[in-house]
Parts: sequence; structure tokens; C-alpha cells
Amino acid sequence: MKRVVMKFGGTSLGNARRIRRVAEIVKENMAEETVVVVSAMGGVTDSLIKTSERVVEGISETEIKEFVGDVREKHLAAIKDVVDSKYQSLPVLEVEKLCSELEKVLIGVSYVGELTPRSMDHIMSFGERLSAPIVSGALNSLGIKSRWFDGYSAGIVTDSNFGKASPIWHLTEKKVADTLGPILGDSIPVVTGFIAGNEKGRITTLGRGGSDYTASILGSVLRADEIWIWTDVDGIMTTDPKLVKEAKTIKVISFIEAMELAYFGAKVLHPKTIEPAMERSIPVRVRNTFNVDNEGTLIVREQKKISDVVKAISVMDEVALLTIAGVGMIGVPGVAAKVFNALAKEDVNILMISQGSSEANISIVIDQKDMEKAIGTIRDVFLGRNIVRDVHQKSDVAIIAVVGAGMRGTKGVAARVFTAVADAGVNVLMIAQGSSEVNISFVVQEKDAEMAARALHQEFIQ
Ligand code: ADP
Ligand code: ASP
Ligand code: MG
Repeated sequence: MKRVVMKFGGTSLGNARRIRRVAEIVKENMAEETVVVVSAMGGVTDSLIKTSERVVEGISETEIKEFVGDVREKHLAAIKDVVDSKYQSLPVLEVEKLCSELEKVLIGVSYVGELTPRSMDHIMSFGERLSAPIVSGALNSLGIKSRWFDGYSAGIVTDSNFGKASPIWHLTEKKVADTLGPILGDSIPVVTGFIAGNEKGRITTLGRGGSDYTASILGSVLRADEIWIWTDVDGIMTTDPKLVKEAKTIKVISFIEAMELAYFGAKVLHPKTIEPAMERSIPVRVRNTFNVDNEGTLIVREQKKISDVVKAISVMDEVALLTIAGVGMIGVPGVAAKVFNALAKEDVNILMISQGSSEANISIVIDQKDMEKAIGTIRDVFLGRNIVRDVHQKSDVAIIAVVGAGMRGTKGVAARVFTAVADAGVNVLMIAQGSSEVNISFVVQEKDAEMAARALHQEFIQ
């Protein structure tokens, strides 16, 4: 008996024709027990975010109604197109119900004039809640028994960290087994990716791109045999094909390598996707809904034969470099610890760290959106105490990560990396200290990132 969790991303669900294709792919590839995880239809999450921001700025009720009207039309049209008329009534009812709820929520936000992370999660949840009934109906129409669930009613319980919630594993494990367990093998549950609920049942989200994570959470708690991520490219590639068109598909890659790539910006996988799969050694496949003949990428525990030193290059933008400087830091114990504690308290995620050997400065890389918060808290902790003289920031930077298990024990890789980058005329702003053995990462100006990625691709991959 084989159990598989399959996730389909937003582009793969972009319109009615694509949704039909997704249903066919499920039919062609389903195992005895299959769970389907779906994202919102392409562009819907972005439009929900943009509209709610406009609502706070004060758009009229008429404009809110127009927006919801468009969302409603888009989803009803998809139902008409891909769901057989005898299965249409339930999804139509659900879309109507959700759209009237969405309208109320947006009008509510416009009255309050404030958008909290909690209400943002509620608003973003509509994308997936609207797409799941359509995909489920499309499966019904192909003769496959199916029901849809939102992430919370499927059993995923998270903490209350709205916007980037994490599962509470022991609760999730039990609830998912209770809800999905009994129907597996009889019908295919279509579960909304990205969204879940906290212990009180309030809607939470797992962070942008979080549907991949939903698939691996479900794969893990259901002890799936495989997790499949269906997307819009031929698998994990040697770099983002949108940046370097010569990028090639990687046939086999290890969990560790895939994890590093995802962590450092390879958008094809949400950064937390690999961890639950790795813990249970569940192979993950990444495949292209637009090119089913390509076998895509297989992610496994250990790759037997490693032929290339560097497997892939990733680029992470929208990050910023923060430097904390001052001769007062020399020889004063615990400065770094204080910095990290202060940032942790404010929930600022540190992506990279480097400390000069003179100890006169510490550089860290964080998400651009956390910058103000980070500077504020560090100033509060240090300034005026003669330890830290200055805190400065540099926005518009990017992290480049060069990833490959073959780098372990191979001499001269770093030299090749930095020579290639220098020859391309790119200035390196910071290099990570003590990064993992399968990864060399460094920071450049954002405008140079593409050039650096291209130079490295040429040096190591072709
Ligand atoms: P989905 O909607 O299926 O979740 P995403 O847009 O989130 O798809 O992720 C797929 C995109 O990730 C690709 O279109 C590609 O541009 C980008 N990407 C970045 N780095 C890589 C990489 N190393 N391999 C494959 N795709 C990558
Ligand atoms: N729809 C969500 C997003 O756009 C989740 C996902 O696509 O994985 O971020
Ligand atoms: Mg994605």
C-alpha cells in the first residue's frame, strides 16, 4: 500500500484549463492512498494582500465590493468550466459563502483602519479556501471520490505566530490521523495549503509559499511514502531559471543540499519543507505540471555518488546588512550574545553572521522588512554605553549561496568561488563565518546578484 502527498502550486492552478490538467495529473499518478494539497489560484494571494493594504489606506466600500465581485467571478467561472454540472452545487455554495465572508472581513478592516497579522492571516486564507473546492470538484468530475478540507479542519494545529506559524506537532499528529486517516484509500482529501489554525481555531498561515510546508507536514504526520511538489519548472534547478536561462534540472539531491538552497532563496521550496521529510526519511519529488514527461528532481537522504563539487547556486534578495561597530566591543564578553538575544526577543530572524577578528564590528544579515525593528532594539540595548559606537544598515543587498555536498573535503572551492565573482567585477560585502560544509554564502549588492550567479554557474556547472 503506497501513500503519497501531492502539492500543486499557484501557477499550476492559474485557470480552469490548468485546474483540469491538475486533476488529470492526480488521476494518472495517484497511489492507493493520496492526499492533495493546493495553493490559491495564481495571483490570488497577492491580490488579497494588496487589497487589504489599500483597504487600510481607505478605499470605498464600493471598491471592496468590486474586488470581491472579481474574486467571486474568477472562481465561479473556473467551477463552471472544470466541474461537471452534477458536482457544481457544493463548490458554488462554498464560493458564495466565502466571498460574502471576505467582503465582511474587508469592510470590518476598513472600519477599524488597522491590519493586524491576525486579520491578515484571515484575509490571506481565502485564496486556498476558494481553490480547494474547485480542485475537489474537478476530481469528482473525473470519477474520483474527493472531499476538501481547510488546513485546520484537516488537523494542522499551530502556535499563534500569525504570518509564520509553526505546527504543534503532537496535536497535529493526532488530529490529522483522526480526520484524514479514516478516509484515505476511500477518497482523496484536497487540503488547502498554507493555512492552519491555532489551538483556539483562529486561522494562521505558515508564511508565504507555505503550501509546500503543508505538504511535508501532512507527509510527515501521515508517514507518507513520498511527497510530491508539483510546480511550474522541471524540478530543483542549478539556479533560478528566471535569472540564468542555462539552468539545468538536478536529478538527485540530498535533503541537506535542498534545505540549504531553500533556506537561501530557491523559491521552488518553502524553506521549512525539507525538515519534516528529512526527519522521517520521506523522499520528496519536485515535478513540473507543464512538462509531465520530465521526471524532475528526487530529494533523498544521501546521494551515493557525488560527481559535481557545486550542485546549485541560489540568490536571496530583500535582505539587509546590519553592522554594529565600536572599539568598545573589543574584549567585552557577551556583546554578540546581547545582540542575538535582543533580536530574538523582537522575533528578528538572523540569516547570516560575521564578526571581524578585530572584534570591532559584527555584521548580520536579516530580512529587509525587519530592519527598523532590529536597529531600534539594538540602539535601545547598547547606545550610550560606550560599547557600540554605531549601528549602520545597508539595504539592497543579496545573499548568494553556493551549495554542494561535494564541497566537503574538496580543496580550493572557496578560491574558485571568489575568483569567479571578482572576475565578474562583483564586490563581496560579507562572507559568512562557519557556514555549513555544503554551503559557501556571501553578500553582494542586489544589483550585482544576477551577474554573480551567472559567473558562478559558468564556473561550476557548465
Ligand atoms: P509554486 O506556485 O508552484 O509554489 P513558486 O513560484 O513558489 O511555484 O516556485 C517556483 C519558482 O521558483 C520557479 O518558477 C523559479 O523561478 C523559482 N526558483 C528559484 N530558484 C530555483 C531553483 N533552484 N530551481 C527551480 N526553481 C527555482
Ligand atoms: N498562496 C500562498 C502564497 O502565495 C501559499 C503558496 O502558494 O504556497 O504565498
Ligand atoms: Mg511556492
